[in-house]
Amino acid sequence: MSDSTELVYTPLEDIPQIHATLKKNFKAGKLRSIEARKTQILQLAYLIQDNYDRFKKSFEADLGRSSLETSFLELDSTISDCKIAYDRVENWARTEKAPFNINFVAFRPVIRKEPKGVVLSISPFNYPVWLSLGPMIGAIAAGNCFVLKPSELSPATSGLIAELVPKYMDPDVVRIVLGAVPETTKLLELPWDHILYTGSGRVAKIVCGAAAKTLSPVSLELGGKSPVVIDPKCDLKTAAKRIMWGKCANAGQTCVAPDYILVPEEAQDTVIQALKEAHDEFYPSGSIASPDLGRIVNKSHFDRIKGLLDKTSGTIAFGGQTDESRLFIAPTVVCGVKGDDSLMSEELFGPILPVVPVKDLDAAIEFINARDHPLALYVFSQDASFKNKVFDNTQSGSAIANDTLVHCATDGLPFGGIGPSGSGYHTRKFTFDMFTHLRSSLDSPSWMDKILGSRFPPYSAKKESW
Ligand code: NAD
Repeated sequence: MSDSTELVYTPLEDIPQIHATLKKNFKAGKLRSIEARKTQILQLAYLIQDNYDRFKKSFEADLGRSSLETSFLELDSTISDCKIAYDRVENWARTEKAPFNINFVAFRPVIRKEPKGVVLSISPFNYPVWLSLGPMIGAIAAGNCFVLKPSELSPATSGLIAELVPKYMDPDVVRIVLGAVPETTKLLELPWDHILYTGSGRVAKIVCGAAAKTLSPVSLELGGKSPVVIDPKCDLKTAAKRIMWGKCANAGQTCVAPDYILVPEEAQDTVIQALKEAHDEFYPSGSIASPDLGRIVNKSHFDRIKGLLDKTSGTIAFGGQTDESRLFIAPTVVCGVKGDDSLMSEELFGPILPVVPVKDLDAAIEFINARDHPLALYVFSQDASFKNKVFDNTQSGSAIANDTLVHCATDGLPFGGIGPSGSGYHTRKFTFDMFTHLRSSLDSPSWMDKILGSRFPPYSAKKESW
């Protein structure tokens, strides 16, 4: 495979063999040493760096992504995550002493950071490098053998990954399985030492059902409707730019994209005007002509998003244009949207931004709490009490003030949902932790029985009073 869009799927009968081979290689200790892990992490960074332009082309083919967006949203951040893991893996993997406690100190208790074994990651189409190779970095850093099933909906990038991984990485420890439902189903019949699933809640239920049969542990990175709460007294110009950027990046196909806006009724027009100005600044000749806006991944997602827009009872404030031949949907702001609108029925995953007018902040909080816990919750306000009121009275994967999306790339922060938006945490050290078994260990000296000898039968009254 190169940059073409034809994917050759992995034969179903090869899948158990791949699993068995990696099991054997894991037992042989292929990635036991930190040096071996670092070599693979470095190779992964070279894989991206050496093929930077080919990846840019594959993103253009899959998602119509602009070259700059591909660089900073995906390629540079993945290389940076490789560097972080390369520099810190010794520290991450170091055996940890338990906190000092006089009662247990003689046991010399420690926590050994051990790889789980052979782990599987099933990834979505929307960030086909960051969400495929990011988990690979963490899994390898933790010393696991790793199987990746990238998305069939981003065939140019998944194909490129499948071509390059065997050239750069050791096939004894990393394998790619290409395919769609039958191949993923076959993978899920096998017992894995951990499964990371990134995608929709609908498929997550299938994954969990299959994993339950083999008792494979699962982490879920899902989606949902991430709200934006706007304090009308905020710096509206900056807020509008950051919200529109979060909505338009990757044509809205971002799991943490702002899904809808909650704003007091009387401020709706001012907010929409600010959003329009941000839009016009981004796309001075109109979004249709702009090379900076991506497209919807396929016809079925295009029809789904267009269908939701066609059915809305809100009013299109600006945008609304679609072009089926290019799978293009213009950034579209819809105002006066109510809670039971078509646009509020599911995660939009496209460049449509409904604005829901509410009475006040309490009503906004109530609106959020009446729905599934979102993956991200955004608040735009300069007022600490406003921000705290929202964050303290809601639940979400992350709680972000005055920006969008940037928390995913912020070093030191875990990335994960809560409830229907996911369970478990990833990115950098948190991916390492997800694929690491905390193995309790102690070494009890013989002389301890002078103190703890009373635990042994026969039990006597004397021992009881001891
Ligand atoms: P999807 O659930 O359709 O597909 C994801 C993966 O599951 C693909 O590899 C696909 O081949 C596989 N799959 C699909 N149907 C399957 C089935 N019936 N049985 C077994 N496997 C199956 O998701 P998508 O459309 O690629 O991605 C969009 C979704 O992913 C959105 O909901 C988005 O919010 C979410 N997402 C979440 C994160 C996160 O980190 N939380 C990141 C990106 C995307």
